[in-house]
Amino acid sequence: MLDLRSLYQEVIIDHNRHPRNFRRMPGAVHVAEGYNPLCGDRLTVYLRMQNGVVADLSFEGEGCAISTASASLMTEHLKGKSEAEARREIERFHTLVTSGERDPAGLGKLEVLAGVREFPVRVKCATLAWHTASAALHGAEEKVTTE
Ligand code: ZN
Repeated sequence: MLDLRSLYQEVIIDHNRHPRNFRRMPGAVHVAEGYNPLCGDRLTVYLRMQNGVVADLSFEGEGCAISTASASLMTEHLKGKSEAEARREIERFHTLVTSGERDPAGLGKLEVLAGVREFPVRVKCATLAWHTASAALHGAEEKVTTE
């Protein structure tokens, strides 16, 4: 158990130090800004849709290790998904970090974030990027706040 815990921490530390797809996407139509006032996390999510599929996904901003790692893992997880699939995955992630119900299909690497459910403040950090991506899927520029 201890080993699993430290493995989880390593994934979070790695994605925080070296966030994947951490860049602005000039000209992106699907853009949303997210803000978590409880922790001060701020990020912008950029999405490029092509033929109904998330062709590219990136983010930038500043936040705590949990919010940055979650955003980084999210960009890897949602790329290549259809809009419907992306929405379903956002929902599944939300369930993972809030309810403690085990998803029989599993969520792969994202399960490293399941432990945040014990810390309600951290849940907001972990879900910020996902709420923001959901808003970006709507297309218009939107601002999201966890409050
Ligand atoms: Zn945070």
